[in-house]
Amino acid sequence: MSDNKDMELIDENGKRLDGREFDELRDIKIEAGILKRADGSAYIEWGKNKVMAAVYGPREMHPRHAQEPSKAVVRARYNMAAFSVPDRKRPGPDRRSVEISKIISEALEEVVFVEMFPRAVIDIFIEVLEASAGTRCAGLTVASVALADAGIPMSNMIASCAAGKIDGHVVLDLGKNEDNFGEADVPVGIVPNTDKITLLQMDGNLTKEEYEEAMELAIDACDEIYEIQRDALKVRYSTTLEDHGEPDDEIEKIQEEA
Ligand code: UDP
Repeated sequence: MSDNKDMELIDENGKRLDGREFDELRDIKIEAGILKRADGSAYIEWGKNKVMAAVYGPREMHPRHAQEPSKAVVRARYNMAAFSVPDRKRPGPDRRSVEISKIISEALEEVVFVEMFPRAVIDIFIEVLEASAGTRCAGLTVASVALADAGIPMSNMIASCAAGKIDGHVVLDLGKNEDNFGEADVPVGIVPNTDKITLLQMDGNLTKEEYEEAMELAIDACDEIYEIQRDALKVRYSTTLEDHGEPDDEIEKIQEEA
């Protein structure tokens, strides 16, 4: 976010620079089950973002003093690869990645049935391979699919998306320049169908009306994203059936539905 108004973000036809409508998401593709050695995994391409998630556990928590006697700890680690951004990112954790890991862990803990696994840890590694704004939302979205792929008991997945404000307009899913030169960015994570909010942050300034408009855009988009998450699991499930020699017509039916 910046007050620098050097960059116009809406062209003379009233369109965003990448041609999107104000309420339009970037293209999103999700694939579940990409890693053999993880208990669950998924990969997302969201615009120019490329993010992978791997889940291990539930397994015994080490160090032992970090164990919770009555529930599992959901431990997400968000990491941006050094080569993921144009200016090389210094490897290793920094203030930003610690913050994002924390908010993603807390969001996911809302849906995982943690009471079923006392003293255990569920590790979720989120690796950002290419970044172009919105990586915390992409990370939370893909981590949810990876948890489901791992068969972790959950009440639902979490879908996440940001809305914000550029050149005085409330818009959905800010791209890199919109994020850098826009006026506000509001990442949101919800439990679909319940509209329970499990992640909410705001960078920049909005009026109450603009905030409400941004929330509505983000929540509606999360419902769209939830469909893409579910479709990824359906495709994954049908591939698993194939491996187990299930009849082709059953598999085709599932694939058609997805
Ligand atoms: N970014 C970067 N270097 C960094 C951190 C971020 O180039 O060390 C870029 C990256 O493209 C990221 C964007 O800035 O996606 C926006 O970062 P922000 O902290 O707003 O998080 P995000 O929108 O990715 O959740």
